[in-house]
Amino acid sequence: MRKKIIAGNWKMNNDISATVNLISEIKKELSGKNVNADAIVCPPFINLETAKALLKDSPVKLGAQNVYFEESGAFTGEISPSMLKSVGCEFVILGHSERRTILGESDQIINKKIKASIKNLLKPIFCVGETLEEREKGVTFKIIERQIRNGLEGISESELENLIVAYEPVWAIGTGKNATPQQAQEVHQFIRGLIAKIYSQNFADQLVIQYGGSVKADNAKELLSQPDIDGALVGGACLKAESFVKIIEAA
Ligand code: PEP
Repeated sequence: MRKKIIAGNWKMNNDISATVNLISEIKKELSGKNVNADAIVCPPFINLETAKALLKDSPVKLGAQNVYFEESGAFTGEISPSMLKSVGCEFVILGHSERRTILGESDQIINKKIKASIKNLLKPIFCVGETLEEREKGVTFKIIERQIRNGLEGISESELENLIVAYEPVWAIGTGKNATPQQAQEVHQFIRGLIAKIYSQNFADQLVIQYGGSVKADNAKELLSQPDIDGALVGGACLKAESFVKIIEAA
C-alpha cells in the first residue's frame, strides 16, 4: 500500500524569523497526534539550514523548491544538488508550473534537473499539469504525456525508485479553484497507466502521485480519498501550521 505524502511548498515566503515560527508551530500542532502520512516542508533555499536544525527531532522531512543540474562552477545564483544534500535536504520540487512559465524552464531542463537530483540521491517531486486553455481544448492527457515522457527521458525504472509525481493543474494553483476529486482522479489514473506503459505495472502501482492546486483543510479529505491520489503538494495552505497539519491529518 502506498503511504500518503503531504508536501508544503512555501514558495518565496517567510524570512528567517517567520521560518522559525512556522516550523515551531507545525511541530507543536503535530505533537501528540497520530498521523499516518509523511510530511515535507520546502522553504526557500536560504532558510533550509535553519529549518533542518529545527526539524532535528521531528518526523517532518525537508525539501527544496528547485535545484540546478550542474555540480559546481560558473553558474551565478544557482544551487547544486550536492549543496542541497549538504544542508540535509531529502526532496526537491522540480518542474513546478511557476518555474515552467515565469522562469522559462523547458521539459528538457527539467529532465536534466531530475537526472542530477537522482545522481545525488535527492528525491524529486516532479510536477506536471495543464493550463486552463489546454484543458478547454481537450488536450490535458496529451500535455501530461509530453511532460512525463520528456521529463523522464533516458531514466530507468531502478533510478526512479524515490520519484514522486505531482499532478498540478495550472488553473488550480493559487486560484482557490481546486480540481474536483473526479477530475483529479481521472488524470492520476492516466498518469499511473502511462507510467505502467513506459516502465512496469509494478513500478506504477507503488508510485506516489500527489495532487496540487488549492488543497485546503476542508477539501483535502475528499481529494485524498480517491484511489490514485496519494498525497498533496500544498501552496497557500501550508503557510499556516493549523491548516497544513489538518491536511496531514486528513491523509
Ligand atoms: C503549488 O504551488 O504547488 C500549489 C499547489 O499552490 P496552492 O496550494 O496555493 O494552489
